[in-house]
Amino acid sequence: MCIFCKIVNGEMSANKVHENEEFLAFHDIFPKAPVHILIIPKEHIPNFQQTPPEVMAKMTPFIQEVAKLMELDENGYRLITNNGPDGGQEVPHLHFHMLGGTKLRWPQMAEDAAKKAI
Ligand code: AMP
Repeated sequence: MCIFCKIVNGEMSANKVHENEEFLAFHDIFPKAPVHILIIPKEHIPNFQQTPPEVMAKMTPFIQEVAKLMELDENGYRLITNNGPDGGQEVPHLHFHMLGGTKLRWPQMAEDAAKKAI
């Protein structure tokens, strides 16, 4: 069972910020911004590429609620999902990273590729 499924079923603890029947939001243990929340479906879906559109239709308002609860809705935030090995996905359970609480820089994610493209 993946670690996010263990958080969903209570085997592992997490610092939760919001929850409903289908989705859960909790603080990332290694925050990369002043606010770093992970937002997941409770159902095990491996990644974004395999996510049915009807899940996203329900997940979108949940994500927006999390932004309001964390008071990020006005100043903004960055929403990221890493998909698969090249995307840097470490946990094979769909999750969105919500990053905020400061003005975020746009990182250089693939330096070699970016140089080639110029
Ligand atoms: P990704 O690389 O996109 O798969 O992101 C996985 C994220 O999960 C990383 O930012 C980790 O810091 C985070 N993470 C891993 N284990 C836990 C945990 N037990 N509780 C909270 N966040 C976690």
